[in-house]
Amino acid sequence: MRGLLLPLLLVLLAGCGVADPLAPAPAPSPSSAAVPLPGARSGPLPGAETPTTAAPAGPAPVVVLDPGHNGGNAAAADEIGREVPDGRGGTKPCNTTGTETADGYAEHAFAFDVAARVTRLLTARGVEVRSTRDDDDGVGPCVDRRAAVANDARAALSVSIHADSGPSGGRGFHVALSDPPLSASQRAPSAALADALVAGLEAQGFTPSTYRGEDGLDPRPDLAGLNHARVPAALVECANMADPGEARVVEDPAGRQRYAEAIAAGVLRTLGR
Ligand code: ZN
Repeated sequence: MRGLLLPLLLVLLAGCGVADPLAPAPAPSPSSAAVPLPGARSGPLPGAETPTTAAPAGPAPVVVLDPGHNGGNAAAADEIGREVPDGRGGTKPCNTTGTETADGYAEHAFAFDVAARVTRLLTARGVEVRSTRDDDDGVGPCVDRRAAVANDARAALSVSIHADSGPSGGRGFHVALSDPPLSASQRAPSAALADALVAGLEAQGFTPSTYRGEDGLDPRPDLAGLNHARVPAALVECANMADPGEARVVEDPAGRQRYAEAIAAGVLRTLGR
């Protein structure tokens, strides 16, 4: 009998404690799903400047920055001259070359540099920033396409950055918004954004335009990018590049940093961050 019992006992034991390869794997517990992936970062990058205020928790809002014009526009007259829908039933040229200071410092370069500075400031505060153009030597995009970038991203808001070619002796910034409004986002939300941008610019020592708009605000129907916007949107004309005093500020990196700080402050105020 003993010779028969031992093999039987070994067969029974073999069924204990051995995983069945066909059985379903245990579901991950909620706590294990929240463990960050290897290499994931929750804080600033090593060596990055420590923000003075910590970025609020929660999903990053998306902000679209739209630096006006582009460095290749002047050499692409046909392409930027073609008509696109203006958002009010008419048409407008796809894009324009923009203006420049008497020294030849171009508006497209100013807008691109300020947008890069705003991007750094907002990113440090936990905002996801997207741009309507990635370089300063391309063509366009057309104004309707610029608006579509923000609309398609369902952005929290969009800010177009420009500098003006105003009358001799005229000075100061103005913030344009679509008027009469064509959507709910063009009403109170865009007005709140424009007000916050005015406040940010004034806090940096800039003064409202002496030649356009009222108290720094310029509601207008003819800016296609704003007409097409379906997210809160405003366009900042930072300065009159034709004014020698303002041209000096625009041409100075420290001046451009002040414009960037002003715009970033307006954006953060609007986002409640
Ligand atoms: Zn412009």
